[in-house]
Amino acid sequence: MRQENSVLVMVEQGRAGSILPVSLECLRTGRELAENLGSRLMAAVIGSDIRSTAEEVRHFGVDGVLLAEHSALCDYRADGYLGALVEAVRAVQASFVLMGDTVNALDLAPRAAFTLEAGLVTDCVKIEVDSGEVLFTKPVYSGNVMAVYSSETEVTLATLRSRSADAAVRTEEGKGEITSLHVEINPGPGLTEIVESVPVEEQGVSLDQADVVVSGGRGIGGGEGFKLLEDLAGVLGAALGASRPPVDCGWASPASQVGQTGKIVAPSLYVAVGISGAMQHISGMNGSKVIVAINKTAEANIFNIADYGVVGKYEEIVPSLTETLRGIPK
Ligand SMILES: Cc1cc2nc3c(=O)[nH]c(=O)nc-3n(C[C@H](O)[C@H](O)[C@H](O)COP(=O)(O)OP(=O)(O)OC[C@H]3O[C@@H](n4cnc5c(N)ncnc54)[C@H](O)[C@@H]3O)c2cc1C
Repeated sequence: MRQENSVLVMVEQGRAGSILPVSLECLRTGRELAENLGSRLMAAVIGSDIRSTAEEVRHFGVDGVLLAEHSALCDYRADGYLGALVEAVRAVQASFVLMGDTVNALDLAPRAAFTLEAGLVTDCVKIEVDSGEVLFTKPVYSGNVMAVYSSETEVTLATLRSRSADAAVRTEEGKGEITSLHVEINPGPGLTEIVESVPVEEQGVSLDQADVVVSGGRGIGGGEGFKLLEDLAGVLGAALGASRPPVDCGWASPASQVGQTGKIVAPSLYVAVGISGAMQHISGMNGSKVIVAINKTAEANIFNIADYGVVGKYEEIVPSLTETLRGIPK
């Protein structure tokens, strides 16, 4: 089973056992790396009762799947997952380990890097091979600078920002063997214990994966105004986002916050309404392909990064935009 220089992708599951879209993006990036480095692409699937997920992963261009199954791995817990991931890395002698830039991966990756004495680059937007060297590009200084890193460690871990790469395409036929890993789980309570799980209410389209996002800021002035944004989002099939003030004021849910301390999104279209364009907000959405800003102040910073801008009060602009779009046949 030992394999020199594998690229290993940790595949995570979302709701109802589906593979997270960002894991598919890691598989595509991992395939490109593996091909350029002349190595194999392996996937690690960690959890409880997940053989069907491992079977499904075989349809996304991997050369093999490592399955770490244990009833104690039902929910993410750092110590159990750490043991499983480290075991997987060692089993295939992975040189590069890719994971989505998810909450769990950001908890796990530094622990794994420490254990493996590995390098770690988080929040990558591009991972590529240039003249035989693997380069990791990530935004720094709130997205004002793109930094390119290389690693000198034997093993390097990286987390990939959601929607920064194309997803692997499913093939009809599965490929590669599934190999079960022996996972040692301490029968005790472990380093961390889940005391309570509180599901985050996410209505409609998920912000992370949305192709269109309509976001409101302090300029919306209250919860009522967000209803106008919901109408616009409904017509566009968009997810609803917010800057930090509406979240702090309780007009929008914490799950909808975009920015430095919120989610990082990169949709095809981002509509910023009543948002001034503070650096901490922009760093969460400046990867959007097209940015439309609606703001009553012509000098607002958001217009500096917007592709299209409308100067005016959102109370007048948003309803007429919604009605116009509603009238366009799909
Ligand atoms: C450590 C730290 C982390 C932070 N993290 C985040 C983060 O993750 N996300 C985030 O967003 N912020 C974050 N912030 C806050 C950030 O600095 C800004 O304060 C915030 O982004 C401003 O939000 P805003 O643009 O909605 O509000 P404002 O800056 O107050 O802008 C409101 C805008 O609405 C316009 N407006 C007013 N009325 C109307 C109207 N009727 N029609 C149209 N336009 C109107 C105004 O012209 C103005 O441009 C963070 C701050 C710190 C210090």
